[in-house]
This record gives sequence, C-alpha cells and structure tokens, in this order.
Amino acid sequence: MHFEFATATRVIFGEGTAATLPDLARHFGTHPLVVTGASTERAAALVSALSAETFAVTGEPTVELVREGARRVQNAACDVVISFGGGSAIDAGKAIATVATNGGEPLEFLEVVGKGRAIVAPPLPFIAVPTTAGTGSEVTRNAVLGSPEHGVKASLRSPLMLPRVALVDPELTYGLPPAVTASTGLDALTQLIEPYVSARANPLVDAICVDGIRRIAGALRRAYHDGSDRDARRDMAMASLFGGLALANAGLGVVHGFAAPLGGRWKASHGALCAALLPHGMAANVAALRTRSPQHPALERYSAVARLLTGRNEASAEDGIDWVHALCVELNVPALRAWGITEADLPGVVEKAARASSMQANPLPLTGEELLAVVTAAR
Ligand SMILES: [Zn+2]
Repeated sequence: MHFEFATATRVIFGEGTAATLPDLARHFGTHPLVVTGASTERAAALVSALSAETFAVTGEPTVELVREGARRVQNAACDVVISFGGGSAIDAGKAIATVATNGGEPLEFLEVVGKGRAIVAPPLPFIAVPTTAGTGSEVTRNAVLGSPEHGVKASLRSPLMLPRVALVDPELTYGLPPAVTASTGLDALTQLIEPYVSARANPLVDAICVDGIRRIAGALRRAYHDGSDRDARRDMAMASLFGGLALANAGLGVVHGFAAPLGGRWKASHGALCAALLPHGMAANVAALRTRSPQHPALERYSAVARLLTGRNEASAEDGIDWVHALCVELNVPALRAWGITEADLPGVVEKAARASSMQANPLPLTGEELLAVVTAAR
C-alpha cells in the first residue's frame, strides 16, 4: 500500500475562536488585505482592529476579480491575506495571495483552460476563516475560478497554496439562511462521499470521511430547520473541514466533474449544483459498478455510506441514494432547470464535464450516455 496525506495548514477549531483573529494575524504581517463576501459587516471589527484593506467578492470568483485583487495587494503593499467568508471569498483570497507573489496573469496558472504554468513563489501568508459550512476550502490547495470567456471553472493549484491557518468558528455559521445551509451542507456531504469512493481513497481519508458522513447524517436536517442548534452547527462546521481534507488528499468524482462546467456558465452557486447532482451521480456510479464491475471495492463503499446515512446495518447502496434523494426534497434543493439550464444545453455540458479534473478520480469511467443520464435526471 502507498498513500500520501499532506497538509501544512494549522487548523484552529471552536466556538469563539474568531475573537483571536487580530492577534493571530499579527504573527504573519502588519498590513492585511481582508477578503469578504458581499456583506462586509461581520468582518468590520477585524478590519478596524488591524487597520486592514478590504476587498469584497460578490458572486463566485473570476480571473478578472483575482487580477484586480492582486493589483490591490501590490498597490497597498499588503503582507498577509485573510479571507472571512464563504467558499468564494476563501478561493478568491487564496488565489490573490498566490498571484500577488507569482506575478503575471491569473489565466496563465489556470488548469484546463489556461497554460497551467507552475506556481513557484510562495504565496503571501493566507488565513482562511469560513463563515459557511460546506466548501472546506480553508484546508485545500486549490482555488476555483470562473473564466467567463471560456464558460467553465478551473483551478489554480499548488501545494504552496495551502492556507497557513484555517480558523473554523462554528458561531460564524449560526445566521446562515436555510437555503445556504442546505446547499453548502450538501456540498460538504458530496466532498465526503466522493473522496471515500474515489479511485485515490486511502485509509487516513477513509477515517475522516466516515466520521464526517455520520456527523452530516445527524446534523444537516437539524441545522436546516433550526439554525440556532449549536450542536448541529458544530457538526456541520467540522464535517465541512473534514471534506476539505478528504478532497485535497483523495480527489472527487462525477458530481464535481459536472459542477465545473455548469458553474462556469450558469449563475448557480457551487453548493446548489452539487446538491442537485449528488443523488443522480451516486445512482449512476452504483449502477455502472453493478453492471460492469460488481467486485469493485467502491460498491461496498457505497453500502458503507448507506449504513452511515441511514443508521441501518442492512442498508444497501441504493438505500443510501434514496436517503440522499429524500434529504434533497426535504431541504428544497432546486433542480438544475431552476438555474435556466435547458435540455439542449446538456450534451455540451457532458463534453466539458468529461474533461474536468474532478472526473479523473471517479471510481470508474462513465460513458457519454451515462453522463448524459446524470444531468438529465438532475435537471
Ligand atoms: Zn464541492
């Protein structure tokens, strides 16, 4: 057996830890850039304590936005970048910290659609403070950026991009509205199931995934129906962190393979797309494994997922799919058509998804027809 598990990120987890941020940031620099989501209020105390520059990210980050952020860092001579927000703010900050020291144009470093130029200079110190429980981007080594001219999303990726500190304070998620709790929480679940069944799964990742899936099974419904449920919020924040560690070390699969081209062209959040796709991606993989590779270890892993989700020892892989499907209904997850995706769009989406980097870790290659069936069912 051979596996790798890498992280260079110091993880700080717990209720109230956000209060330590100003002191923590001073270890890394004297003039921070604080990257936030559309609402900047909650970062106001941090910004004033540090006399920081601010940079707000509305919507999911693009190449253009990162270019602008890197220019801000250079003009204001910032020496540390802190992201305080959801996955968009964290990916934007991570990319800005990287492009600011590596020079040039963000597109040059982008996988798939860019030149994939290697990142060689260490980024500025980067601290990630998630305010949603979903992406796990606080412990991953990539930043997903949209390139509107190519109509896809692709990653800047390097081990050097791992954040220096991930500060996860579940209290920051107490105010999330139910729809965001649902979409980000189902992204977290996807990011625990896909690495667990991935072609690159390993025992350390397995342990993280099993614990994380169990937490989400118990907590996501509760956090959705009662956002002030502290135990549920804590479990979701932890499971999100675990999902980030899992995907960074074992890759993803078909659901994320589709999220890249869909999110690049339509204005749906990453979490909402993963949520709409998850039960259908699981169903396609389980059906393909049963017909083409019934001895494949991923099939037993889907059964293990089903046991964790349902709490029933005799649950089959299909029971797990049904459970996720019912959860999506209960959490009012919109189908893909709600985002304006038409049937005529689907063949083009399938073509791009087949080339996405996440698709490479899917437990087995899916055919074009199988991929089309996934997005057709999710629409
Ligand atoms: Zn995701």
